[in-house]
Amino acid sequence: MRVRWASVAELERKQEQTPVPKDWTYAPAPEARDIVHLEERYGHYIGGELVEPEETYETISPATEEPLAEVGQATPEEVHGAIAAAREAFDNGWSALPGSERAKYLFRIARILQERSREFAVLESLNGGKPIKESRDVDLPLAAAHFFYYAGWADKLEYAFPNRRPRPVGVAGQIIPWNFPLLMLAWKIAPALAAGNTVVLKPAETTPLTALLFCDVVRQAELPAGVVNIVTGDGRAGAAIVEGDVDKIAFTGSTEVGKAIQRELAGSGKRLTLELGGKAANIVFDDCALDQAVEGIVNGIYFNQGHVCCAGSRLFVQESIHDDVVEKLKRRMKTLRVGDPLDKNTDIGAINSRAQLEKIQELVAAGEEEGAEIYQPPCKLPERGYWFAPTVFTNVAQSYRIAQEEIFGPVLSVLTFRTPAEAVEKANNTPYGLSAGIWTEKGSRILWMAERLRAGVVWANTFNRFDPASPFGGYKESGFGREGGRHGLEPYLEFEP
Ligand code: NDP
Repeated sequence: MRVRWASVAELERKQEQTPVPKDWTYAPAPEARDIVHLEERYGHYIGGELVEPEETYETISPATEEPLAEVGQATPEEVHGAIAAAREAFDNGWSALPGSERAKYLFRIARILQERSREFAVLESLNGGKPIKESRDVDLPLAAAHFFYYAGWADKLEYAFPNRRPRPVGVAGQIIPWNFPLLMLAWKIAPALAAGNTVVLKPAETTPLTALLFCDVVRQAELPAGVVNIVTGDGRAGAAIVEGDVDKIAFTGSTEVGKAIQRELAGSGKRLTLELGGKAANIVFDDCALDQAVEGIVNGIYFNQGHVCCAGSRLFVQESIHDDVVEKLKRRMKTLRVGDPLDKNTDIGAINSRAQLEKIQELVAAGEEEGAEIYQPPCKLPERGYWFAPTVFTNVAQSYRIAQEEIFGPVLSVLTFRTPAEAVEKANNTPYGLSAGIWTEKGSRILWMAERLRAGVVWANTFNRFDPASPFGGYKESGFGREGGRHGLEPYLEFEP
C-alpha cells in the first residue's frame, strides 16, 4: 500500500480551515497585588528625602479607574530645590568619586531591582495598564540590565573614549513618558550616573509610582543624597526642569513637546537629546517565513497596547502575499486576550489614560471616514477603565491620517508594495525615522534595505528587540542622540577640545 504524504500547502490549508475556538477564556490567573505596599500620599524625592508636596493630584489604575495614591504636583520652586540638591551632590563628591566606586552603586541598584522585580512589575502594571507578563518579562529584566551594563562602563570611560579626557557634564534634567515608566527611568539614570552626573527626573503624570518606588531602591543602595532626585507632576513640572539651572536635558515623549523644548533651549548652551515619536514600517517580502512574520507583526504593533515609539504601525506587504498575510493576521488576532493587566494570560492590557484613548478613537474614526476597511476581532471589553480592541485597517492609502500620524495605540495600517525600491520609498515617506522591520529569507536583501531605510534601528526577521549594549534613537522628527550602548554615554560627557 502506498502512503500519500500531505504537502505542506495541504496541511496549512487544513490548519486554516480549523475554526478558531470561539472562546479563548482561560481561568483567571491574577498576579497577587499584596506584594505592593502603596502609601496614601507621596512627596518629591529631593536631597535623599521625601519632601511633603505643596500640591497633589490623584494617580489611578487605568484598568479600573480606581484611585491608587496622592502624588505631588511639583511647583517651580520645588523643581528648583531638586536641581539645587543635584548641583550640591555633583559639586560635593559625586563627580569626583572614582568610577569604580560609582559602579558599585549602579551594581547595587541593578541587584535590588532584580530582587524586588515582582513588586515593581505588579506596580508598573497597576499604574500603567500594561500586561503583567510584559512588565515581568520585558520591562523589569531590561531595566536591571541597563544598570548592570552601565555599571560596567563607569570605570572604563577613558577606554571608551581614548585620548578625549571624558568628564561629566553636571546636572541632567530628565523627562520621561508613560509607556515604559521604569525602563525609561533606567535608560536615563544609568548612563548619567555612570558618567558622573547627578539627575533630576520627572516621570509622566499618569505613571509616577514605579519612579517613586525607585526612590526606595536608591535609599537601599545608600546612594549619596542628591545624586538622584525625583519630582512628580504634569508638563508644568517638566517645563520647570527645562528652564532650571541644569546642564543637560534628556527628553522622551511627543514630537510636539520635543520641538518646544528645543526652541526653549536654543542658544542656552544646555545640551539636549530628544527621543520622540515614530511611524515604523514593518516590511514583509513574499519569500519570508510567513507564520514567523505574522508573530512579528503582532508583536510589533500590539505589544504594550501599541504604546511604543518604535511600534511597527505601518505594515507593508508584498502585493502577491497580501491576502494570505491579512487572513493569517486576522486569525491570530482572534486569539489575543484583552483584559486585566494583572492577569498572567492577558496579551493586551488597558490604554494608559482617557486622553490617549480619545486620541486613538479619533484617529480610528478618521481612518474609517477616509475609506479604509477596519477589522477588530470579537472581544468583550471591560466596562470600567480605558480599553481599545486590537485593530487592523486594510485598503489604506499613504495619504490617510492613520498612515501618517503616530496613533500610539493597538492600531495597524496595512499597505502594499511590489518591488524593494518601492518598499523603501514608501517606508521613508514619513516625517519620522525611528525604526523599521524587514522580513525576508535573503540576507543580501536585508542589507540592501537596511542601507536605504532612514530609521535609527532596523530589525530583520524580528521586531521590538532591545539590549542595553545596542544604541537606540532616531532620525528626522524622531529626535536626535542615542541611548544605550557606548553611544548612550556620550551625551552625558564633555571632552577635551
Ligand atoms: P508628552 O510629550 O506630553 O509627554 C512626555 C513627557 O513630557 C511627560 O513626562 C510630560 O509630562 C512631559 N511634558 C509635557 N509637556 C511638557 C513641557 N512643556 N515641557 C517639559 N515636559 C513636558 O506626551 P503625551 O503624554 O502628551 O503623549 C502624547 C503623544 O505623544 C502620544 O499620543 C504619542 O503619540 C506621543 N508619545 C511618544 C512617546 C515616545 O516614546 N516617543 C512617549 C509618549 C508619548 P505629563 O506626563 O505630565 O504630560
